[in-house]
Amino acid sequence: MTDNLSRRGFFRQASGRGDVRRPPWTGDDFTDQCTRCNACIDACPEAILIRGDGGFPEIRFDVNGCTLCGDCVAVCEEAVFDTARPAFPWHASIQSHCLALAGIHCQSCQDACDYNAIQFPPRLGSAPRPELDTDACVGCGACLPACPNNAIALEVANG
Ligand code: SF4
Ligand code: SF4
Ligand code: SF4
Repeated sequence: MTDNLSRRGFFRQASGRGDVRRPPWTGDDFTDQCTRCNACIDACPEAILIRGDGGFPEIRFDVNGCTLCGDCVAVCEEAVFDTARPAFPWHASIQSHCLALAGIHCQSCQDACDYNAIQFPPRLGSAPRPELDTDACVGCGACLPACPNNAIALEVANG
């Protein structure tokens, strides 16, 4: 197997705009447990939970990120959420069409991140480039809609 193929096998990569992504603190058994009552969708103050395929909630980062407020957890009457696990199985990944990587001054993603997961170390004579700390990133998605060039993806380790 080539490096590319093995890497492709280990990661699923997507834009975060169309893939099925579930609410925070949920697991692979989501559709077994969820009764599609819509309570979490109605409760989310960021309006990032939507009724997806089959009526099951999905999370979309088209406009806002998740603030990890826990309102969805609070209203759910089923064994869907487990806050002992990480909120999301993915982390942000900056793509090659990032404006700053092309020498254009942009730090919108850093400004959107409440976790200081994106830094722009100063560079002499050129635009600073983003560095993403995947350990600090919680996958909240706030940097996705902040990027003017749609250059941030969410990367999931298949494990
Ligand atoms: S934690 Fe809060 S912001 Fe995040 S999906 Fe749940 S209700 Fe919405
Ligand atoms: S509140 Fe719970 S059961 Fe209801 S739709 Fe949301 S996850 Fe499913
Ligand atoms: S997904 Fe959230 S925590 Fe991760 S880099 Fe983007 S804004 Fe920061």
